[in-house]
Parts: sequence; C-alpha cells; structure tokens
Amino acid sequence: MPEYKAPLRDIQFVFQEVFDCEAHYRKLGFEDVDADTINAIHEEAAKFVEDVVAPLNRIGDEQGCQWNDGEVTTPDGFKEAYQQYVEAGWPTLAQNEKFGGQGLPHSLQQPISEMISAANHSWGMYPGLSHGAMATLEEHGTDEQKARFLPALVEGRWTGTMCLTEPHCGTDLGLLRTKAEANADGSYRLNGSKIFISAGDHDLAENIVHIVLARLPDSPAGTKGISLFIVPKVNVNEDSSLGERNGVHCASIEHKMGIKGSATCVLNFDDARGYLIGEVNRGLHCMFTFMNAARLGVALEGVAASDAAFQGSLAYARERLQMRALSGAKNPDGAADPIIVHPDVRRMLLTQKAFAEGGRAMSADLSMLIDTTHKGTDADERARADAKLALLTPIAKAFLTETGMESTSHGVQVYGGHGFISEWGMEQLMRDTKISCLYEGTTGIQALDLLGRKVLGSQGELLKGFMQEMGSFLGECSADEQLAAHAAVIGQYLEELQSLTATIGKRAMSNPEEIGAASVDYLMFAGYVVLAYYWLRMMATAQQKLADGSGDANFYTAKLQTGAFYFDRVLPRAKSHSACVQNGGDSMMAMAAEHFAF
Ligand SMILES: Cc1cc2nc3c(=O)[nH]c(=O)nc-3n(C[C@H](O)[C@H](O)[C@H](O)COP(=O)(O)OP(=O)(O)OC[C@H]3O[C@@H](n4cnc5c(N)ncnc54)[C@H](O)[C@@H]3O)c2cc1C
Repeated sequence: MPEYKAPLRDIQFVFQEVFDCEAHYRKLGFEDVDADTINAIHEEAAKFVEDVVAPLNRIGDEQGCQWNDGEVTTPDGFKEAYQQYVEAGWPTLAQNEKFGGQGLPHSLQQPISEMISAANHSWGMYPGLSHGAMATLEEHGTDEQKARFLPALVEGRWTGTMCLTEPHCGTDLGLLRTKAEANADGSYRLNGSKIFISAGDHDLAENIVHIVLARLPDSPAGTKGISLFIVPKVNVNEDSSLGERNGVHCASIEHKMGIKGSATCVLNFDDARGYLIGEVNRGLHCMFTFMNAARLGVALEGVAASDAAFQGSLAYARERLQMRALSGAKNPDGAADPIIVHPDVRRMLLTQKAFAEGGRAMSADLSMLIDTTHKGTDADERARADAKLALLTPIAKAFLTETGMESTSHGVQVYGGHGFISEWGMEQLMRDTKISCLYEGTTGIQALDLLGRKVLGSQGELLKGFMQEMGSFLGECSADEQLAAHAAVIGQYLEELQSLTATIGKRAMSNPEEIGAASVDYLMFAGYVVLAYYWLRMMATAQQKLADGSGDANFYTAKLQTGAFYFDRVLPRAKSHSACVQNGGDSMMAMAAEHFAF
C-alpha cells in the first residue's frame, strides 16, 4: 500500500506563488491570513491526514460498511478518526463565525479536502457532504432554520446529505416522485424513497441533516414542480436539542465497485417531518447551490486521485528493478535498472504528475473565485467570478475526474501485474475513483451543461470572458522565448475552440442532435486547452523564481519540465477531439436503435 504524503510544497507553490493568495485574502478582508498561518494550518492538517485518515483507507475497502436492522456501521477506525477531526475543529475552519465557524476563506480549506480525498476517498465523503448541506442552508434557509441546524453541522456533531436520486430518476430530476404534504404547523411530511444517498446513514455523528428534493401534491410536473426540504434523521427541537427519531430510515446499503467505506443508502421517508427551504417549486434552484459546491468537490476528487496514483507509481518506479535502460545500464551494480528509466514508464508518471499538478492549479483558481463570490466587495468582480465559475465548473468536474481515472489506470499499469493485486492499493484507487465520473452529473451531462447551457446558451458570452482573461495572460508571456512559444500554441487552440463552437452552433440550428454528438469531445478539447493555460501560468512563475535565484531550483526546474511534457505529449490529444467534433454526429445517429445488435 503506497504511503500518502500531503503535497505541501506544491500546494504552497500554487496558492501562494502562482495565485498570490495572501494578496487575495488581504483584498477580501482576511488581514490575518498570512503565509505562516496558511502553512501552519496545512501542515497540521497534513499530519492528521497522513497519520489518522490514510491508514484507514485499506480497511475501509476490505470491511466496507455494514447494515444491520436499519443501522449502518462504518469500518473500524472511521468513527474514532471522525471524532478526532471534530475535536480538532477541522469542520469549522471555513464556516461562518455566526454559527460557530472560524470564518476562514473557502480556498484555505480546499487543500485539506484534497488531502483527505487522496488519502481516503470513502472517509472523506462524510465530512464532504456536510459542506454542501451547510452552504445550501446558509444561502437559502430562514434565520430560524440556520440557528436551529447550522451550529451542530458546523461543529461536525451532525453531518449532511443530498437526497436527489430515486430508483427511476437520476439525471432526469423532473421525474422525481417523493411527495411532500403540508402539516398544519407549517412543517411538511415527506413520503417516498431515495436511493444511492451517500452518508445517508452511519455511526459517526449523533444526527444527519438530509437535504431532500420532493414534490407538493398540486405542483406542476417536471423540474418546475420540485421543492427542497430539510429532513433530520432525529427530529430537532426549536432550541436545537434532539427530539424523537424522525420517519426516515435506511432500508439497505449498496454493494458496490469502490468507496466501500462510504455508506451508499436506500432511504425510505415515511411521514418524515421536513421543513421547506426557499420557495415552493424553486427547489432545484436552491439545490444548485449544493450541486455546484459538490461538483467542484468532485473535481477535486479527480485531482486527488491523480496525485495518489502518481505518489504510488513514483515510489514503485524508483524501486522496481526490471530490464536495462535502452541507452545502457543506469544501475550497473544492481540486477537491473529501476523502471523509472524506461521512457514508457516516464510517460505514465509524467501524465499523472501533469494532471495532478495542473488540476491542482485549476482547482485553486476556482476556490479563490468562490472566495470572491462570498466576500468580494466589488459587484463587477463578483459577477466576473460567477461567470468564470459557471463556465469552468462542468469542465473541472468532468475533465479532472476523467483524467483522474486515467491516472489511476496508469497507476495499475506502472505496477505491472502487481497493480492488479489488492495489497498494492492501485486497483482500489482505480475502483474508488470511477464514481467521480458518475455522481454529481456524469461526464456526458457535464458536457451538455457546458456546451448547451453555458456556451451556446449564453451566446458565447461566458466563453468570451474567459478567453479574454487567457488572451491577456498569453500576451504577458511574449517577453520570454519558451513561454511565448507555448502561449502561441494555446492561442491557436483558442482560435480552434472558437471555430468549433461556431461550427456546432451553426449545425445545431438545423439539427439539435449535433450538440449532444459534439459535447463530450468539445468538453475534453476545452479541458486540455484550459489545463494548458494553468500549466503556462505555473511555468511563468517557475521561470520567474529561477531567474530571481530564489532557491528550490530543482522544484522549479521540474515544474518547467512537467509543463514542457504537457505541451509536447498531452495537449496534442485535443486535436483528435477537435477532429471528432468536426466530423459531426451523422455516423453516431444513423443506426436505428433496433439494429445495434442482431
Ligand atoms: C456511490 C454513489 C453515490 C451517490 N451519491 C448520491 C447522493 O449522495 N445523492 C444523490 O442524490 N445521488 C447520489 N448518487 C446518484 C448519482 O448522482 C446518479 O447515479 C447519477 O447522477 C446518474 O444517474 P443514474 O444513475 O440514474 O443514471 P441515468 O440518469 O439513468 O443515466 C444513465 C446513462 O445515460 C446518460 N444520459 C442520461 N441522460 C442523458 C442525456 N440527456 N444525454 C446524454 N446522456 C444521457 C448518462 O450520462 C449515463 O451515462 C450516487 C450514486 C452512486 C453510485
């Protein structure tokens, strides 16, 4: 099992050196959040994750969760680790001080979430879901609801869930049937069944606050008739003390491919008491707060998977001796050379590294935009942050999880046959990571969101804004020959992105299927190009640091070398996605559904 080490140096590089988070925090009024504070928090979190969370990863997979008589038990050690997490105050870090939080910026929390996910995806699901529940309550709850539910969630004494999926409805939430009927006292009673609810039941916390989509009897059909409710597992009195058990019960847990330590529950609502959040029939609108937070959280799981796979592969590739380097022995005293000398092994390692570090930079930028939307005082700046987040969220969610999945596959491959054997941990990583491409909207659904809603739906406005940002950075690279060459390459891809967008838009006017046919290739094309932009930003910083002679030359040189690999050997994949888009959807749509097999 590879030992997990938090990538603290790279976290520092990305947040502090590339994006100057200290200046960003000062601007948002977080005067005290300086480099020492940031580093101290992340170092402390790293110790907790490495010593407490990471060692539970294997046992979580082997034992999984257990369901007995309606109660879920998490794997050995999960509960104790969660208690330590709460006692150390970690859940409170970036939460509102009004409800017991420490009021620190969201982006300060982000590396901690990445570390937890890389060390133990399953365990990270329990605190992870609470973040979305808290964000939804804070944005859309009444003052009374916030006072009643938020302090215990912030403290971590309770956890949260999101309850959307039903047996017959996953992607298409307009089909959902869970019913909510008004009680005389202003509360509601909910009846129905939800499936696949992560952290839907467990033994880590004394209560669970479910955020549930349901339909009132007289509501219109489809997505316009959905409302949002708080449904606690144990009823909560007005003073926040616990009352009687509510009518929501875990009917079973799923047996699944990965994240076995995360309880995936069937929840039955039998006259469960609930409270409306926001307005009637505006539930999906409110739920988008949860979903957007959750999508970026899942994008980070992709980054974490790339990093965990890279760490495991690198350790193995340095130790495993097989064959000699093509150019002659590199370890003449050994029986063979370590496999890291072989170009193909390097291809896999550098691909993982490029996805992990590039994805970290992209996620860091997005997390700082979230800070701006929360705390920014300039309305224009907040609007720009919102627009960029809207465009990049589906790209981050889908591209970073697909590349995370690829990284874990390389992880198995670097280990050879041993990668297929459980004790090395690589096959678990691959099984655990697949879910990130599925939940919170599959890759296909993110691609439709990007192309249909965000790009074409805004008549290209959202894309234009981000293209301008990228264009002006590319211009800044003109003074340096190497950076300017990479910037010119990105410039060409950006022109191609515009032309692909125009082509699809034109075709879609006569055939709407063209959007669906192009969408995933379009998203992947955009993903490779956007990641190139973040790589160029990192390379520019590394170049500057080397020129300044600020030390750590090996780190900055490795950054430039990884960036060069990305431009040479990964970015060109975008061309095949472009070709697929240009070829259109005719060959995809020609075959009659009944002719797929005879
Ligand atoms: C382990 C696990 C944990 C989960 N946790 C939660 C949770 O906490 N809360 C919750 O509410 N849900 C949860 N889910 C549910 C998850 O979000 C859904 O499984 C997911 O959104 C897909 O829905 P579905 O499974 O019904 O697939 P479907 O919607 O049936 O989709 C099947 C396939 O069809 C494709 N498809 C569907 N419609 C279109 C279209 N219009 N265009 C192109 N392709 C399309 C999809 O991309 C997919 O490939 C979880 C699922 C799992 C497995």
